[in-house]
Amino acid sequence: MFENEKENGQDLKPLSISKEWKLLYHRHGRPGLEEGIKFKGLCKYCEIQSLCSLPKPEIGVWRCEHYRAKVWRKSDFYQNVIRQLEKAQEVNNFDRDICKIMAETMNELVVHFPVKMDDGHVKMFTGYRVQHNNALGPFKGGFRFHPMVDIDEVRALATLMTWKTAIANIPFGGAKGGLQIDPADHSPTEIEKIARRFTFALGSNIGPDYDIPAPDVNTNPQIMAWIQDTYMSTIAPDERNRCIHVVTGKPIESGGSAGREKATGQGVIFLIEKWAQDHGFKMNGATYIVQGFGNVGSWAARLMKMNGSKLIAVEDITGAIRNKNGIDPDDLAQHVKEHGGIVDYPKAQSINHEVFFSTKADILIPAALENSITGNTAELLNVKLVAEGANGPTDEEGDKILQRKKIHVIPDILCNSGGVIVSYFEWLQNKRSEFWELDEIDSKLKKIIIGAYERVRNAAEKYKVDWRTAAQIVAISRLEMVYKERGIFP
Ligand code: NAD
Repeated sequence: MFENEKENGQDLKPLSISKEWKLLYHRHGRPGLEEGIKFKGLCKYCEIQSLCSLPKPEIGVWRCEHYRAKVWRKSDFYQNVIRQLEKAQEVNNFDRDICKIMAETMNELVVHFPVKMDDGHVKMFTGYRVQHNNALGPFKGGFRFHPMVDIDEVRALATLMTWKTAIANIPFGGAKGGLQIDPADHSPTEIEKIARRFTFALGSNIGPDYDIPAPDVNTNPQIMAWIQDTYMSTIAPDERNRCIHVVTGKPIESGGSAGREKATGQGVIFLIEKWAQDHGFKMNGATYIVQGFGNVGSWAARLMKMNGSKLIAVEDITGAIRNKNGIDPDDLAQHVKEHGGIVDYPKAQSINHEVFFSTKADILIPAALENSITGNTAELLNVKLVAEGANGPTDEEGDKILQRKKIHVIPDILCNSGGVIVSYFEWLQNKRSEFWELDEIDSKLKKIIIGAYERVRNAAEKYKVDWRTAAQIVAISRLEMVYKERGIFP
């Protein structure tokens, strides 16, 4: 089913894909696709009949959104992360040997496992767990369920987690997991079996004081509860209750923390508010646009509303919408709950991808996937601030254009750290058998994330660099110090 990159002797690498084809990445047959419908057909990549209409590829077979998304997103994510590290090294002259360590992941696990589907047939799945670094504490990072997950993406995300925990000054390292699956293709019973079987396959490569997963794209508290239960069921009975912190982002009843669900979005908002304060910018009446309306995007949008700011455009995998008079994020969140996406939201107009990115607003919150702010989309942007809720939303070219256009960026490794900070609180509460109230969680989160903001801002001023490089410098400084104190074994 999954062909290799060559087909009929034709090379299907990115160069063979037309430019506009790469831009059209909306899901099958959803609004947002351009005019000029030319082709309908069977996707050779995912083998599902697509309703999507797209220009014919220049060469090779036609493939659907899955393949395009792969070409589009994969392009350079991991290389970008490493180049960012090199850039920080050049600015601050970090120890080259330590940067050599930082440029590699420590452990990479690939598992293939079978699961019996509802109709009785057996399907094979591929999952990854990459542990980048644990010098500062146990490995920590989410599990992503997505058809395009691959080892390079998980490597990049694991590496970003190491920087994120170092900047926030919390005692964790960095890791990430991914499962190559489109959750939309599976029933809840199948998702449960797949999540449990994945956990079983990972075995003791995760653990409450060793490597602690959490939710990410397409995973949620329910999936965390299944992972927790599976892990606890595979260890000795007298150990089980000492292991409830094997995952964070659990439902409250299973040991989750107040405020974890909204934590990433809440962190984004605390930082936007601080940025506004620093720049004499008024939140009341400010306009914002959000890409991705899942956990991070929808919470960020709803919390922005409390400042009197106005949401005017949203894009998710099902399409893009705009209403210059304002979109009520709570109402839209309800619509998404009922319809699975923003598509067909009746109180806004459907727009395409370029119109979404061209919408004039004060703030853009990218909260979908990596590499969405590229050379093309950055040129379209007409905002003052990009607050990166997603991991790696801006590629290298996009970053240069944002700098040229003097659009301020609160970089991902600072901006979306609210999630892992409250995960740390959840982990601590579990270890101590405590439960903290929401106001305590929020005030502790604010203190930690604003502290991180100030460290990054100070580094940007000291080294006269952009905030992404400054954030990287803060992270590597902390790791370098620890490596120098401890030395390299043996
Ligand atoms: P989610 O699965 O809840 O939501 C993802 C959203 O992105 C959905 O609305 C989906 O429709 C949209 N999306 C996916 N592909 C898209 C595309 N090609 N174009 C437009 N929209 C698209 O995931 P999430 O947990 O909200 O994570 C979003 C981002 O935030 C990811 O980059 C994730 O790594 C990052 N993040 C999440 C957390 C967390 O606590 N969940 C913490 C830190 C960072």
